[in-house]
Amino acid sequence: ELVPKGGGIEFKNVTFKYNPEKTILNNVSFTVPPGKTVALVGPSGSGKSTIIKLLFRFYDIESGFISIDGYDIKKDVTQRSLREIIGVVPQDTVLFNQTIKYNIQYGRITANDSEIIEAARGADIHDRIMSFSQQYDTLVGERGLRLSGGEKQRVAIARTLLKAPTIILLDEATSALDTHTERNIQDSLNHMCVNRTTIVVAHRLSTIINADEILVLKDGEIVEQGRHQDL
Ligand code: ATP
Ligand code: MG
Repeated sequence: ELVPKGGGIEFKNVTFKYNPEKTILNNVSFTVPPGKTVALVGPSGSGKSTIIKLLFRFYDIESGFISIDGYDIKKDVTQRSLREIIGVVPQDTVLFNQTIKYNIQYGRITANDSEIIEAARGADIHDRIMSFSQQYDTLVGERGLRLSGGEKQRVAIARTLLKAPTIILLDEATSALDTHTERNIQDSLNHMCVNRTTIVVAHRLSTIINADEILVLKDGEIVEQGRHQDL
């Protein structure tokens, strides 16, 4: 059973196909040192979200290996411990048809009210929640109050803050946000990722500038890597 320490990630010569006809990732190697942030950039279809999905072991890779703190995630790690140590903020967050409180608490079901509120504050969504008539008991999702894309992502950030995982995988929304919302989300993201090993699929320049390293993907290969000022 994996008991990760720093959550350092390594992809070593990873080649992957969803189906035999097309290679999606070709010999991809990179490391994310514990506590650091790597940003993935590249055209649509280049394989960015696939890298995130592979860390969750949703699919078997064709060759190479993926490890966390030196443990091969295929051989040495259970799906369950992966779910425990990794928090994900997906490209498009789907909320449960439940209260907003439930949706945040899902990150750690034992959390109490003050911890939930602290997480919501950290994600800059608390004030918005307090403006709803039923506040934290407001039903959200398809059959409840519809939140905007930016608000849903902030709920996902609150959930992840509450979970406090060792590793964060963040697939930034591509949708355009207004400047105010963008700045609020950026602050929440920075807060969430401090001292956590983070892989972020980055669309915003501010995210890219803040990353410790940037990997540029093209057709499933890393074609450039370095810091923002070097690229
Ligand atoms: P975007 O910026 O649009 O989100 P991406 O870089 O995240 O793109 P991926 O989602 O990783 O791209 O997809 C990489 C390639 O794999 C694409 O050609 C895509 O069509 C293909 N692909 C993705 N998911 C599947 C799947 N479940 N089955 C088959 N092919 C897939
Ligand atoms: Mg994607």
